[in-house]
Amino acid sequence: MNDHYKFINTPLPYAYDAMEPYIDEKTMRLHHDRHLQTYINNLNSALNKYPQFQNWTLEQLLLNVPSLPEEIRTAVKNNAGGVFNHRFYFSNLTPPPSTQPFGSLCDAIEKEYRGYSSFQNQFKTAALSVFGSGYAWLVVNAAGKLCIITTENQDTPLPLGLFPILNIDVWEHAYYLKHYNLRADYIDDWFRVVNWNNANKNYMRCFGIGS
Ligand code: MN
Repeated sequence: MNDHYKFINTPLPYAYDAMEPYIDEKTMRLHHDRHLQTYINNLNSALNKYPQFQNWTLEQLLLNVPSLPEEIRTAVKNNAGGVFNHRFYFSNLTPPPSTQPFGSLCDAIEKEYRGYSSFQNQFKTAALSVFGSGYAWLVVNAAGKLCIITTENQDTPLPLGLFPILNIDVWEHAYYLKHYNLRADYIDDWFRVVNWNNANKNYMRCFGIGS
C-alpha cells in the first residue's frame, strides 16, 4: 500500500464497471480518477515543502493534525481525510451478487442490532441524516462495541479513537449521475455491493486477529 508522501492513486482492485448495475461505471471512473486524484494531489502539494512529514503515514497525519504547521493543517486534515475515506470506501465494495455479514462481525451485528435487516435500517437512517456532504460508518469504539456514526466533509473516525469497519460516501458525487437526488436508492444499491469479507477482516483486525 502506498502509504506516505509522495502519495499515488493506486488502481481500483476491480474494473470500473464491476459494480454495475448498482454503481455505474462513469461514477466509478470520475470518483476514483478525478475526485480521489484531486485529494492525492492536494495532499502532496501541502506536504511538498515539509520533508519532516513526508515519511508520515496517512494515519499518522490524520492522528496528529494539531501538531502540524498551521499553514498546512486544514489542507492536510481535509485531503488526507479525503484519501483515507475514499480508499476505505473503494476497498469495501465488491462485485454483485451481494453477500451478507458472516463470521465474528455477523455475530456482533446480531448482538448489537438484533439482525442484519435492523442493522441495515439503522445504517440507512444514519446515511440519510448526513446534511450536506459526508459519510456514514460502522465503527468499533474503545469499549469494543459496534457503533454507527456519521462524519462531515472529509473528517475521519480516527481522531475520535474509533476503528472503522465500513463506510459509505454520501457526497453527491458518489451517486448523482445515476441516482440523481435519490440518496435512499443509492444506499439500497450500495448494500448490494458491500464487501463483507473485507469488513469482517477489518473487524477481526481491530481485535488483533488476522493480518
Ligand atoms: Mn467521494
